[in-house]
Amino acid sequence: MNVTCNEGCQQEFKITALKTDHVEKMPGNVERYYFTCPNCNQEYTSYFLDDSMKEIQQEIKDLRSKGDLKVKQKNKLLKLTRKVSAMNEAHKHTYRKLQQNYG
Ligand SMILES: [Zn+2]
Repeated sequence: MNVTCNEGCQQEFKITALKTDHVEKMPGNVERYYFTCPNCNQEYTSYFLDDSMKEIQQEIKDLRSKGDLKVKQKNKLLKLTRKVSAMNEAHKHTYRKLQQNYG
């Protein structure tokens, strides 16, 4: 996947899966996964993960591995996916606030 370093040097660079992923521990047992631009070291957050998100993601994984899902299960999957992404957004918000306060 090619990414443009739009907050840094404006150059394009390639992300090679998890190899470039770094993890930072945040307050409240939240982990921030991020990668950095190889040219200017600008950090980019991939996603956040906390304990309850891990649990939900396990549920999502279990549901997805089942293959043929009933309508009820499909709805649950959709609900869980939305929940995780909402939680991710909330962490993003918190992280931005932290950066503004201490950055
Ligand atoms: Zn850069």
